Amino acid sequence: MLSLCNPDERQISESPPRVYAHRRQNKPAFLVFVLNCMPLASNVILHTVTFSPTDKQGNVMHKYVIMGVQGCGKGTQAKMLAEDFDFVHISVGDLFRWNIQNHTKLAARIKRIIADGQLVPDEIVEQLIRRRLDDHDWNFGYILDGFPRNGRQALFFLESYDIDAVIQIDVSDEVVLQRVLSRRLCSQCGLDYNVIHHRPAVDNQCDVCGGELVTRADDNERAVRERLETYHTKTEPAVKLFSRKELIVNVDGTLPPHEVQAEIRTRLQLPQRVECTESG
Ligand code: AMP
Repeated sequence: MLSLCNPDERQISESPPRVYAHRRQNKPAFLVFVLNCMPLASNVILHTVTFSPTDKQGNVMHKYVIMGVQGCGKGTQAKMLAEDFDFVHISVGDLFRWNIQNHTKLAARIKRIIADGQLVPDEIVEQLIRRRLDDHDWNFGYILDGFPRNGRQALFFLESYDIDAVIQIDVSDEVVLQRVLSRRLCSQCGLDYNVIHHRPAVDNQCDVCGGELVTRADDNERAVRERLETYHTKTEPAVKLFSRKELIVNVDGTLPPHEVQAEIRTRLQLPQRVECTESG
């Protein structure tokens, strides 16, 4: 049997520690709001309230797929949604990276493929997704990030699972190239940085945990171009399969991240982020 992921470790690697702590302790929404506001010193800071949205049947459950070429900002947008609405963010790329970092049996099979910017074989991905979704460890829903990547994966998903909407983030190839090549990742906590737009306070050091910032093995020009090609030829047709059945929400990924988020929420009829002010 393939060891795909260690459940505890995997959840930590998928979510920033603060979000993970809230979910684990199952704090009520108002308490999350208060905790979020407490550390604020002064000024106006964008802060968030955790809501528990309900669907038409009154079920507290939302299931979304977020798609877009690598570097379009889908991970950032998925994390914002997950944090505020207590959705579980399931990033297939993160699950693979966890396996690589932990030298699992699977890592040996996928390391080279990922570093070259190619797609991992469908049967491995489908097994990973099936196991992950079988966990059912969400209270309010999930956001699936990085899946499906081709028609076969889309059909596999549509046969077995249902979703509320597909969020597709659009950016040009040139923007992707520029963004991805300036991207850095904390080697300890996985936080994302960008050496142009989101620099750490100290060069090469994570602001949160002090970990060393590294470049992902697949963030090189050759691999990025390979992924762009794969996205246009394989993933875009998969979106069309969804568009027959599901709501597709297209957003402009070149806007600032909070505007992209606002647009997503408007289109999904989710509450907007709330500004919290505190003096002192
Ligand atoms: P991501 O973090 O989503 O950019 O994914 C990183 C890499 O993991 C991709 O370039 C692929 O090599 C692999 N990968 C992620 N999701 C999938 C998928 N659904 N199918 C095949 N390979 C994937």
